[in-house]
Amino acid sequence: MTAIEATEVSKRYGTVVALDRVDLTVPEGEIFGFLGPNGAGKSTFINVLLDFATPSDGSVEIFGHDCHAEGVAARERIGVLPEGYSVFERRTGRQHIEYAIESKDADDDPAEILDRVGLDPTDAEREASDYSKGMAQRLVLGMALVGEPDLLLLDEPTTGLDPNGAAEMRDIIREENERGATVFFSSHILEQVEAVCDRVGILQDGELVAVDTIEGLRESLGGGTKLVITVDDLRNGTVETVRGVQGVETAVEREDSTLEVTCTNDAKMDILVELHDAGVDVVNFRTEEASLEDMFIEYTGSGR
Ligand code: ADP
Repeated sequence: MTAIEATEVSKRYGTVVALDRVDLTVPEGEIFGFLGPNGAGKSTFINVLLDFATPSDGSVEIFGHDCHAEGVAARERIGVLPEGYSVFERRTGRQHIEYAIESKDADDDPAEILDRVGLDPTDAEREASDYSKGMAQRLVLGMALVGEPDLLLLDEPTTGLDPNGAAEMRDIIREENERGATVFFSSHILEQVEAVCDRVGILQDGELVAVDTIEGLRESLGGGTKLVITVDDLRNGTVETVRGVQGVETAVEREDSTLEVTCTNDAKMDILVELHDAGVDVVNFRTEEASLEDMFIEYTGSGR
């Protein structure tokens, strides 16, 4: 069964095209990472799934139910961590979880859910409006987990979390997936996605520019070799010199006179020759497998 099926979905706000003919199929059981820089249209897509926004064209289904025409059925088996969710005033963390249990007609144990998302019993009895951003994020995740949903929709779930919190979030995503849930989550932070996703989609200016496994994305970038080159003196024009070499996909400056370059395998020697000819001394040189971040830069064109 297909968890999410988007067919030619567009969403326009006046002259802004937030989504541009997005086609996407997420099969049941997958962890799918929805990546893109801020403003790419990720929240808009999730809002269309939740029927908070109506597509200008095209349609989206969740488990075969149209998100707009059959919204209630589509949302019946989902847990949501929306963007910018604000907690209720004068209600404790525990009361939030109890509210979610009641409204989903579920029978979860609130203490168990709170413990899972890392809120201790003392926190649970505090008013959630006094929570830090990270605690509120944990609480809302807890609410999403209520009722063992078949699909978890998480919009930037690691917002406000420290690295430990983000790692715990990834553990929960994996556990939920092992239980059988499909997980669809958006992020503009690449490491969050690389560690946990089966497949990723890269959204740029409303267009889905790539959908693949991380391995597949690597391969489609000509082997995705990354070179880290340290030179004696990174002068004006050096980056441009490297970018001019055939087979170079991206070249960005890093600290300490270092360049990071993604390129085809064949281009490596040409880059070194070109630098030598330009009078630039190479102090150090190593190759790495391209990370998701390099691919992201390649697809979205940022860093150029
Ligand atoms: P992301 O979640 O990837 O950061 P969004 O989906 O929030 O991106 O936004 C995509 C684009 O659509 C942005 O240019 C944003 O300004 C615009 N947008 C989103 N929601 C609205 C709205 N309700 N009214 C007008 N423009 C909107």
